[in-house]
Amino acid sequence: MTEDSAGTEDSAGTKKISAAPTLADLTTLRVGGPVASYAAVTSRDELIGAILDADDAGRPVLVIGGGSNLVGADQGFDGVVVRDLRRGVDVLTETADDRTRTVRVKAEAGVRWDAFVKLMVSRGYEGVEALSGIPGTVGASVVQNIGAYGQEVSASVCQVEAWDRATSTVITLQPSQMRFGYRTSALKQGMYDEDGKPGSKWFPTPRFVVLSVTFALVNEPTTTVDFGQLAHALGVTTGTRMDIARVRSTVLSVRAAKGMLEDPKRYNNPWLAPLGQDPQVSGVPAGTRKHVGPVVRAAASASTELSEELEHDRWSCGSFFINPIVSQQTADRLPQDAPRFPVSVAGGQGKEQGSAVKTSAAWLIDHAGFPKGFALADGAPAALSTLHTLALTNRGGAAAKDVMALAAVIQKGVSDKFGIDLVPEPVVLQGWKPAAGKSGQKPDGEDA
Ligand SMILES: Cc1cc2nc3c(=O)[nH]c(=O)nc-3n(C[C@H](O)[C@H](O)[C@H](O)COP(=O)(O)OP(=O)(O)OC[C@H]3O[C@@H](n4cnc5c(N)ncnc54)[C@H](O)[C@@H]3O)c2cc1C
Repeated sequence: MTEDSAGTEDSAGTKKISAAPTLADLTTLRVGGPVASYAAVTSRDELIGAILDADDAGRPVLVIGGGSNLVGADQGFDGVVVRDLRRGVDVLTETADDRTRTVRVKAEAGVRWDAFVKLMVSRGYEGVEALSGIPGTVGASVVQNIGAYGQEVSASVCQVEAWDRATSTVITLQPSQMRFGYRTSALKQGMYDEDGKPGSKWFPTPRFVVLSVTFALVNEPTTTVDFGQLAHALGVTTGTRMDIARVRSTVLSVRAAKGMLEDPKRYNNPWLAPLGQDPQVSGVPAGTRKHVGPVVRAAASASTELSEELEHDRWSCGSFFINPIVSQQTADRLPQDAPRFPVSVAGGQGKEQGSAVKTSAAWLIDHAGFPKGFALADGAPAALSTLHTLALTNRGGAAAKDVMALAAVIQKGVSDKFGIDLVPEPVVLQGWKPAAGKSGQKPDGEDA
């Protein structure tokens, strides 16, 4: 189904929705103007066809998932927004003997991420439970290598099937080709130039559009808790083995308390309703392994009615800035109590391989004078979440320019105080213009 701003009729001749959506309709931050064309596709061929047609016509393409890592542009999107409505999950293998416990599960890119996690946990498959409650889709999960509470999706990805827009072929990417890193992958890196600015060809959607992801999980309903904050919330010490259902419910509670769950009411919006549906499962039936310990239900607070203020704390992109990875010298200049975590950094692209220090963007923001709830003026429509320093939120009626003005003030404040440049985590459409001459040009076949 492709729609433009004139609306569309389905095969029965019924007008479904009167106009194409706005970026605000499609994103968790709820900012951004009208979309010129919208294609909601239900098969792999339709998905590839929609992208191919737009690329052939030289139109900008935005493949959108949950819109939870996107800052829309106030002027809208003068191109084609493609939404993958497929929601198939195929359990390829499940072994229950005690030596081989790997389960392979292939999920279509359009599957809602948290619905996938819920399904895996319910079947007793370990590997993604700490990523419970992250909004968005399976397809986008590998673009920025989502992570939380000590887990990253890259640890369980064994294969990514993608449409290569440069060569017009379907390819299979192995984890090594994905070049996963902290909140990044080859797909995301290919969208930006060396200087971190949006590239002229593969922005705002990567050259490789994810069609499906195959995960290798463990057929074992317990996991080792090795992240301090999660262990604390569970009331155990790190290193303890816990029921994955209990880990999931605890992660959901912790996230709810920080406003780091998406607002479930957004699925009342007809443009998003299909994404809210459960996956369609095929393949190996659920196994016989039993959960250890009581099955704990998802935190009630995840869906309970919230005050208006707390509801708006969920109108965000999650963490707006990436935790900076800085040199040892820069870390040494930070105040004594600044968080420091040693990390190793990969070489390549002119960067030296070696050790570095990850610090906390939330700590830097807070200590640069921007506490929770900070806004540029009383009653301003964009503000820091009242629950989490890293979330820039829409308090209702914010435009993208309001959010980006707040981001700019925070970036300057942190740079002035600590000499560290904060880099936004979401894909920012506000201020971006398609490269001149894009129209009518099919992207050529250069390497990502
Ligand atoms: C409340 C909240 C909490 C969050 N918490 C976390 C967290 O704990 N950890 C974390 O890592 N992230 C977190 N996020 C960020 C976000 O949920 C993730 O980045 C998520 O993976 C984005 O998925 P999406 O489908 O919404 O992507 P979108 O926002 O729809 O798209 C983001 C980018 O991915 C591209 N993309 C989408 N689908 C595909 C595809 N099939 N193939 C290729 N490219 C594609 C888009 O073109 C775009 O460039 C949070 C966000 C919110 C709102």
